[in-house]
Parts: sequence; C-alpha cells; structure tokens
Amino acid sequence: MLDLSKIETGKLELDLQECSIESLVQEVVEALGPGAAQKNLSLIAHVDSTANVTARCDGNRLRQILVNFIGNAIKFTATGSVSVRAESVRHEGQRLRLRFSVSDTGIGIPADRQDRLFCPFTQADCSTARNYGGSGLGLSICKQLVELMQGEIGIHSQIGHGSTFWFEVPLEIVNVAASLTPPLSESPARSAKPIVSSHVLVAEDNRINQMFVTELLKYCGCTCEVASNGDEALAAIQRHDYDLVLMDCQMPDMDGFTAVREIRRREANGQLIGHRPIIALTAHALAGDREHCLAAGMDDYLAKPLEASQLRAMLTKFLSN
Ligand code: ADP
Repeated sequence: MLDLSKIETGKLELDLQECSIESLVQEVVEALGPGAAQKNLSLIAHVDSTANVTARCDGNRLRQILVNFIGNAIKFTATGSVSVRAESVRHEGQRLRLRFSVSDTGIGIPADRQDRLFCPFTQADCSTARNYGGSGLGLSICKQLVELMQGEIGIHSQIGHGSTFWFEVPLEIVNVAASLTPPLSESPARSAKPIVSSHVLVAEDNRINQMFVTELLKYCGCTCEVASNGDEALAAIQRHDYDLVLMDCQMPDMDGFTAVREIRRREANGQLIGHRPIIALTAHALAGDREHCLAAGMDDYLAKPLEASQLRAMLTKFLSN
C-alpha cells in the first residue's frame, strides 16, 4: 500500500547501484526455492550470457518484481515447474534492454482477464481470494515500478497450460567482464584450443557490444582490437594481418557492407595479401540478411545479441585449421 501511494504521488525514487544480474536472479531463486520444493515444483533459473552483466539499477526493486512473479507462479501452480529467465533483447543507445520472464505450468489466466491484472486490487476471478488469498496489488505495483524504469510489462497465458509474466527494462551496463562464466556443457580447455591466440579485429560502434564481444573473445582465448567504424577497420587491417574480422553491418561514417567490399577489392588487387575471414554482426535476424552479407563479401553471419556458444562455433569454423 505504501509503495502504491508513493508511486501514485510521484514520491518513489529509484535507488541506482551497481548490481550483478546473475546474483540478483540467483538470490531470488534461492529465497523462494523452499516454497517451490514444498509443493514439489522445480524452480529453474537461466541467465543468458547476454544478460550476464553488472548494471546500474535498483536491485531491490528488480528483486521485488521477480519475487512477486515467482511467488505467484508457485502459488498458482500445482504440478510441474517454474522457470525464470533473463536475457538481453537489444541495445537502446548505450543501454541494454534486459528481459526477465517467469513461466509456470499452472492454472493459467483467461484471455479476457489478463489486461486487468495489472490494475490495483484485481484478481483473475472472485474465487481467487477465497482459494489462494492475496490482495490483487502485487502486479499493479510491478507495472508501476517497471514503468518508472521506462520499461514494459506483459503476460502470455493459456488457461490450463500456464502463464509467462515478463518485463523488459533498459539498463546502463557497467561491465560484462567479471560475470562471464564458461557454459557448463562445454569444456573450455578442449573447445577453446584451436582458436587460442588468434588475433581478431572487432569493428563495432556500440560501446556495450564492444565490451561483450571483446570479453567473449577473451574468454575463447583470442586477443582482439576494436575499431569503431569502417574507416578505422580498414586502417587497422592495412596495418595488421588479423586472423579474423567481426564486422558490425551498421556503423556511422563507413558501414560494414562498404568496408567489406573495400577489403575484398584490396585483396583482389594485391593491396592486401590473402583472404581474411570476415563475419558480419547484424542487429536483427531478418530474412535476407544472410544473403545480403554474403553478397557484400562477408564469409558468414552472426545475429546480435551474440551467444558465447555461437561465437565459439564460428571461430572454430574459420580458425581451427
Ligand atoms: P495477489 O496478491 O492477489 O497474488 P497479484 O497482483 O500479484 O495479487 O496477482 C493478481 C492476480 O493475478 C492473482 O490473484 C491471480 O488471480 C492472478 N495471477 C497472478 N499470477 C498468476 C499466475 N502465475 N498464474 C495464474 N494466475 C496468476
């Protein structure tokens, strides 16, 4: 109630601090784990490597929203599982838009009641308070908090099959370095071997993406340099013989398509020796993107946000012999 009145009177302010997204999700899941275990539900969390960052954000408020979502998911699920996911969906300037979602295999919510759940004192139907208790306030506070963070909140649900509650918020990223951990399914020693010590040029204008890609490359055992546009990439390639180039397609001044055409032209007329693998990085996985990249002279294509496993597979493909 206090939160709601503070929000409504414009008195609630976010307390921004540096916060690890993975720790935040783990803490909430650990706190609510016993409740799920009591009902024999499995509570699973997955923080995608693209969301494995330290961000400047109001960690307590993010936790509050997740606690509300996960608490409800446990409450309204009799058998099965509750899964929590954090991933990045896109860049917004120098901020990264993170998406958090909580899915359950519970009772679900009828389509005609879904929108209203985010209004104060609303429950899916009159019997809910009788059967499950609750005030119907939690989700409306979540919505207001998410809006205060300039984000969006929503739900997908099918009666009898379960619900997914999600929210997306743009966050300022402090770093991605400390938080990158090897995927459990891979043995870094074995799979990193062929590409260790390769020297890679990253042509990318977005600072967050630069951080991501360079950290991923370091994690794969490569060394790298960064160019912020096509002109810088050309100059760097003329100076140094890189083993591979990761080329963002959209960059200011000279874009990736123009740069790769120029590199291929110089390779053809002998200004540059040999053929260097150039992998396009594109913001959207649109149909036709791949063809467009290949036609311009790229050797392959990766869609952003990059996943460690996809990048590693690409490096192995082009650097392993
Ligand atoms: P409450 O305190 O009543 O749980 P909320 O605002 O958090 O308040 O939720 C409002 C209503 O939305 C709940 O009473 C329930 O009817 C519905 N609801 C929320 N989450 C779920 C879910 N995961 N599955 C089914 N119904 C849900």
